[in-house]
Amino acid sequence: MREAGKVAAIGADLGGTNIRLALVDPEGGVSEPYRYPTPPGGEAAAIVETLAQGIRVLQHQARAHGIRLAGCGLGVAGLVDGQAGLVYTAPNVAGFQNLPLKKLLEEKVDVPVTLENDANAAAFAEYWLGAGRGVSSLICLTLGTGIGSGIILEGKLLRGASGAAGEAGHMVVEAEGERCGCGARGCFEAYASATAILRDARAALARGEGTSLRELFGTRPEALSTKDVCDAARAGDPVARGILERAGRYLGVGLASLVNLLNPDLITLAGGLAAAGDLLLQPALAELERRAFAVLLCRTRVELSALADTAGMLGAAGLVLADGGHLWMPGR
Ligand SMILES: [Zn+2]
Repeated sequence: MREAGKVAAIGADLGGTNIRLALVDPEGGVSEPYRYPTPPGGEAAAIVETLAQGIRVLQHQARAHGIRLAGCGLGVAGLVDGQAGLVYTAPNVAGFQNLPLKKLLEEKVDVPVTLENDANAAAFAEYWLGAGRGVSSLICLTLGTGIGSGIILEGKLLRGASGAAGEAGHMVVEAEGERCGCGARGCFEAYASATAILRDARAALARGEGTSLRELFGTRPEALSTKDVCDAARAGDPVARGILERAGRYLGVGLASLVNLLNPDLITLAGGLAAAGDLLLQPALAELERRAFAVLLCRTRVELSALADTAGMLGAAGLVLADGGHLWMPGR
């Protein structure tokens, strides 16, 4: 983090569990992040106040070090219209429905706030500082409770007519398939997310299938995590392996549609479920190869993201710095 006389942006990330904020400079230097638990209970006002508090702390810090702030970029896990400063809906943040979050925050802090979908922000972080340095088209998929995605096409973040483009998690992979959290059927994230894996593992327990998960979770399936399923699979449990293979195959189905549609240089897989590594990646890549056009696929790398869970925060700040003309990206 460079100091006096320099410019920086506040990067913030609002997730269902945590709020993270830090100062980010145009070289990608980051101050020690602040982390607050996201206030639960559907009280939007409490979340806005916590965000404002964090922003004020960083404003004070910037002032104390003679750093000029270009703005605050805030990544939100939900459907966001950055132009209008509006969060349409954020399924994992209770109380966020048609919320004019930009206006509410700017009433409380002394810095302009720019909203961005968190996966869009993460995609920009990959492009700016991650595996996407030097490429022109990339897709960042965040595999977690759902599947978020951000798309950068020929050097430009794809936002679409409503500012909410890039909802790859709700591409349909089975027309009459499993019910998705969005209410529709057969969405990509209803098959290849942590939620899908846990649903399938709990169903296997309920059917009484012979799995090592039974011993620990047979009477309390709600305590099961994707890490438990991955650990069981790594120890050779056939039921756990089968569940992850199925999710991986569907991940490949979604990846193939994205490759055929957008012909990206790079797809990065981020989010908690990316820790499953080869358990998901191997079946996904096999399926991808079966389905994507070779002439497109031969130009696409698929990689696990090397950026930790700070990508949303970094990218949201990076977009503010880029809009202000403060980013210098070699070869762009
Ligand atoms: Zn859906």
